[in-house]
Amino acid sequence: MNPKRPAAPKPTFLWWTLGLLLVMAIAQAWFMQPAGPPLPYSEFKALVRNGQIAELSIGDTDLRGTLKSPDASGQTAFSTVRIDDPKLVEELDARGVKYTGEVVNRWLPELLGWVLPVLLLVGFWAFMLRRMGGAEGGVMSFARSKAKIFAEDDVKVSFQDVAGVDEAAQELREIVEFLKTPKKYTNLGGKIPKGVMLVGPPGTGKTLLARAVAGEAKVPFFSLSGSEFVEMFVGVGAARVRDLFAQAEAKAPCIVFIDELDALGKARVQSPMGSHEEREQTLNQLLAEMDGFDPRKAIIIMAATNRPEVLDPALLRPGRFDRQVLVDKPDIRGREAVLRIHVRQVTLSPSVDLAKIAARTPGFAGADLANLVNESALLAARRDKTSVEMSDFDEAIERLIAGLEKKRVINPKEREIIAYHESGHAIVAEALSGMDPVHKISIVARGFGALGYTMQLPVEDRYLMQKQDLLNQITVLLGGRSAEEVALGAISTGAQNDLQRATDMARSMVTEWGMSESVGLVHFDQGKRSRFLDVAMPAQRGPYSEETAQAIDHEVRRIVSESHDTARRLLIEHRDLLEQVTQRLLKKEVMEGEELRAMMAPAAPPVLPPVGPEAESGPQGKADRTTASA
Ligand code: ADP
Ligand code: MG
Ligand code: ZN
Repeated sequence: MNPKRPAAPKPTFLWWTLGLLLVMAIAQAWFMQPAGPPLPYSEFKALVRNGQIAELSIGDTDLRGTLKSPDASGQTAFSTVRIDDPKLVEELDARGVKYTGEVVNRWLPELLGWVLPVLLLVGFWAFMLRRMGGAEGGVMSFARSKAKIFAEDDVKVSFQDVAGVDEAAQELREIVEFLKTPKKYTNLGGKIPKGVMLVGPPGTGKTLLARAVAGEAKVPFFSLSGSEFVEMFVGVGAARVRDLFAQAEAKAPCIVFIDELDALGKARVQSPMGSHEEREQTLNQLLAEMDGFDPRKAIIIMAATNRPEVLDPALLRPGRFDRQVLVDKPDIRGREAVLRIHVRQVTLSPSVDLAKIAARTPGFAGADLANLVNESALLAARRDKTSVEMSDFDEAIERLIAGLEKKRVINPKEREIIAYHESGHAIVAEALSGMDPVHKISIVARGFGALGYTMQLPVEDRYLMQKQDLLNQITVLLGGRSAEEVALGAISTGAQNDLQRATDMARSMVTEWGMSESVGLVHFDQGKRSRFLDVAMPAQRGPYSEETAQAIDHEVRRIVSESHDTARRLLIEHRDLLEQVTQRLLKKEVMEGEELRAMMAPAAPPVLPPVGPEAESGPQGKADRTTASA
């Protein structure tokens, strides 16, 4: 802790106020306590008439008194609420009851009436003052870091709890070594790395990994989210950073973990809407602290982000977060391992095949898989099963992939269009060689506005795609629209998403992967794209000429329209099949891939579209091969 700063005063003011309020409340309750069990006024009048009242004290709002003889419960005191009754005094006189007027003790309510607001006002004012004070120079240091401190054995997470990110874990094992035996490294004059940045899509286990490092090294873990730094008052964030590092330095070796660093570390830009004073000041403080602390002290600053491209370059400089560890989505074997971790607490039926589930969930991150296991367990519980079965997993996967099942009413005409559309996707996918087999076709409406979907099941994860694969995918995407044309001679808006994806893919082929002969082996930068988030960035035209732009457009159009022709040709060839599949779908709503293949078997052998001479391949992640139609 920084010795120059006075110890943080406890928020005594708040306690005083609370205490005072409590005392007042008790006092009030005591004063206002009714003297006896309240009686209905009519009963009271009856008592008066019967001459049973000994004494009566008339208050503003109530009457209290004593009875001459105890009532059923053995009490003589009673009270009743006063009612406007001008004859009461006469009656009391007539019965010879001793009565007095009562001066009600009103100071308390009145005091409360005006003292309380004033107190609150003063309290709020003092509170604000302190916050500002803390911001300005730590006078009252209200801005103490809210960082959650996990003491040594608090972090129970180890690398055992993380799966599917083997490379990242391997790199982090080195960090664990640094933290366990810092001397071993510093004795030879080496410096322990300062900053490690975990970069990867959301839900891949970055936070989990950081905690695992602390757990493995058995060191304290200080964690804070980047957004927690950014406060309303300028300077509070900076004070927090200072404080966080002061605490960490006292506990070295330890880990300081800043989650969601992008909230804090966005590149400092001149924004027309006024500058982000607070964020910048906080960021500057962070940079200063990272440079400032003693490199021989084993403090490792870890940070996580899923948007590395927006980070301020100053953060990535050597001596700061110079080590970047990629935490990517797991592959098929990784997914199985993650599932294995999460099913530990779940009662599984022997029918559950985790390898199969892993195969059906390409593109799922660790958090999605954890969620999947949970959803499946909930589904099984809802059906009063004693263990979670494969069918529960199947349903949960479908829900997660296509959104929750919706009971939407769709008119028969629309249903027919959707059935033709999905049949088109499926038949084209099966007819083309080398495509992932169709797993399921459905015309059951789902969330996210998807009216139906055709799901292809990849046999394996792919990291590289050949040109023909891409063309085939575009063809499959256009299969839906083509089926509508072939079967109905009319087109609908259902293909919008298909067209968008087909066009995007074709454009990437031309501008990123050099797959167009007439445009050539050139890469056109499309501006900074988020590597991990599917956030649409504003369209930006690359640094190329008008002619190139035209050539690109022309090529994109050509690729899409040739694929469209292929899809149409295939569907015309399989016209009967299209009809059969559609009718089957209209009847059953859902069809398995096997069923489709069985129907296709007697049909003609698949027709191959012309294959180009080149076989370049473009980087293409695990594309989502579910063709949903909106
Ligand atoms: P991130 O910080 O990358 O967004 P988290 O670490 O917060 O992701 O992951 C959220 C949850 O998902 C974890 O608590 C864990 O249950 C699960 N999870 C994510 N990735 C993995 C993984 N690689 N192995 C096991 N579980 C994981
Ligand atoms: Mg996280
Ligand atoms: Zn479609």
